[in-house]
Amino acid sequence: MIKLAGFLTLIVALAACTNKSAPDFQKTVIVNKKAKTYLEWEASDENPKNIFKKYREEYKTNPELPKKVCESLLKLDGSGLSLFEEEINFYENAALVKDCRETLKKSLEEYWQVQKKSIEDTTLNFKFQTRKEKRDLSKGYRAKTGDVALKELILTFDDGPDPTYTNRILDILGMVDAKAMFFLMGPKVLATPDIVKRAAHEGHIMGSHTMTHHCQANNPICAKANGGVAMTYEQAIMDIRGGHQAVYDTLGFVDPFFRFPYGESDPSLTDYLASKQVAQFHWTVESEDWKARPNEELLASISQPSG
Ligand SMILES: [Zn+2]
Repeated sequence: MIKLAGFLTLIVALAACTNKSAPDFQKTVIVNKKAKTYLEWEASDENPKNIFKKYREEYKTNPELPKKVCESLLKLDGSGLSLFEEEINFYENAALVKDCRETLKKSLEEYWQVQKKSIEDTTLNFKFQTRKEKRDLSKGYRAKTGDVALKELILTFDDGPDPTYTNRILDILGMVDAKAMFFLMGPKVLATPDIVKRAAHEGHIMGSHTMTHHCQANNPICAKANGGVAMTYEQAIMDIRGGHQAVYDTLGFVDPFFRFPYGESDPSLTDYLASKQVAQFHWTVESEDWKARPNEELLASISQPSG
């Protein structure tokens, strides 16, 4: 009897092991839909970046994994698959998706074609009027709400410049005469200086967004996001300064604006920015463009302030 129980336990344990490695990417889509913030989504075990990192390790001892990965990916619709686009194209995952990569890429291409068509009728036959306003930055300044008048908006873009998207964004902004604020990442600025120069030349605000995009604040949320360890004050300052310096080195100037990755700041870092007369920019509406959803849904959601 004891022996039998032992045997059963072994079978259950084996079954659990096998289940653990069976990819279920539908779960990723659900977690993505439920996530309330980008930070929550990025730190999730279900984020494709984190899943594939795990699978690259697991593949070393499990040659069956690519077949299962493909099976699960092929079940997703275009919107769900869009969450995995970067991982499908990432060279380090080539072996994991070798049998389905071409099919998936075709599905994604078709999905984006349909998405593009859905907003093709949106005409851009209007122009924005830009308004400039001076603020006293000497005591520190954090923009979140109350900074815009009715029917006025400030457009901001983080994490660039990106060789594909930023030029497209600049083309569209140009068509409607809009000026936007860019919160740029140091290494990307240094990698694509021409895009930074183009944006500055076209009159956009060039602020910064750190070197590493680590969560900078000394608080439990950031500690969790950074793998359990919060950044020290000195590390955060170095990261913030590095991003600002990269813009300065590329353009010969940097505008006095900074955005904390994930919007997470703490009093000591806020004081630091104040001492340098650099304004901190938060947001009232988040496009949540990291969520898997069709363009029409995205457009509907950004007309609702998220607080
Ligand atoms: Zn960011």
